[in-house]
Amino acid sequence: MVQLGMGMMRLPLLDENDVTKIDYEEVNRMVDAYIDAGFNHFDTAFIYHEGIGEQTFKKCVVDRYPRDSFKIATKLPLFVITEESQLEPIFTQQLENCGVDYFDYYMLHNVSGFTETAWKNVDLFSFIQRKKEEGYIKHIGLSTHGNAEFLEEILFEHSEMEFVLLQINYLDWEDENIESEKCLEVARKYNKPVMIMEPYKGGFLADIPEKAENLMKQYNPDKSVVSWAMRFVANLDDVCVVLTGASNLEQIKNNIEEFNNADPLTDEEYQIIEEVSQIINDNITVNCTKCRYCTDSCSEEIDIAKLFDLYNKHNLLDTDEWTPHGNAYLNYSKLEGVGIASDCIECEMCVEECPQQINIPEVLKDVAKTFETDIYGFEN
Ligand code: SF4
Ligand code: SF4
Repeated sequence: MVQLGMGMMRLPLLDENDVTKIDYEEVNRMVDAYIDAGFNHFDTAFIYHEGIGEQTFKKCVVDRYPRDSFKIATKLPLFVITEESQLEPIFTQQLENCGVDYFDYYMLHNVSGFTETAWKNVDLFSFIQRKKEEGYIKHIGLSTHGNAEFLEEILFEHSEMEFVLLQINYLDWEDENIESEKCLEVARKYNKPVMIMEPYKGGFLADIPEKAENLMKQYNPDKSVVSWAMRFVANLDDVCVVLTGASNLEQIKNNIEEFNNADPLTDEEYQIIEEVSQIINDNITVNCTKCRYCTDSCSEEIDIAKLFDLYNKHNLLDTDEWTPHGNAYLNYSKLEGVGIASDCIECEMCVEECPQQINIPEVLKDVAKTFETDIYGFEN
């Protein structure tokens, strides 16, 4: 049976420009609301919140609830692995970070072309299999942003994988890079239960163009925009967990409500979702999910995810005039120790980190052209 998972990738912050300044009291409230609603699946990773995501899970869940009342999923950071000798220390540190003596679910994080240095050169699959045999992991699996053909190759080679975590939402369903539908079919073919990530596409499906929102509202004025996205994923066969990330108490409460009321979509509603997808695709500029995997690689301290978010929101308004998003860009530019779009030196270090395959330096040029103008007080 499918359950709602609490993703801990975009937690509330006390300082919106510093992802390590977590608002623990708000996280506690979110955890309590989630558990009180009858759910128990938490998802974190070694790299979330620049390395303190797992410790936050310990502080807000493990230190406050008995071990048998929750399940924890975390991930081996393939991004940093180049040799076998790193595996044991990282794994031991993860157990310590999380404050547990076993993981319920443990994944190889984003097995894909971006991380092939790790999984081709180091036998990660045998390592996690051994950890399972030693009793430190209940179930082993992998997350991936690779396409269906890639997933098929991996699952064919590694029948020991027990589940997969895939990016699935209505906008990526037929996307030629993400291939949500085809990836789900591959998982089914190999009998692997699926956990879903990004059902709202990093929050993007909560904030869709007005024309698309009107279509949904005209059909059913009582249903929120995100309810359509939740209903789309929550009723797919062979899915065991739908992970939603929340950044405050209100969002997790909404996620719970949407999940609990996720009736199957009718044929007519599927048709509306197709039309909505078309409208969004016609308007979306950058396919960024705000995963922040690119952040650490940037020597110029450019908050790429933030700038792309502002750029997308600005473009949805379709205007050359002042927008609040341009104003937010200006405010950001005045912060200490941050880079703006035009600071990009085109080193391309970020590009290989991006699971959405965005040509980041090229897009940043457009971001600079849009925001770094005299409208916002930048000198041309
Ligand atoms: S290409 Fe630009 S944005 Fe990317 S890491 Fe280099 S300086 Fe940063
Ligand atoms: S640009 Fe790519 S890696 Fe960076 S936050 Fe967006 S989707 Fe993630």
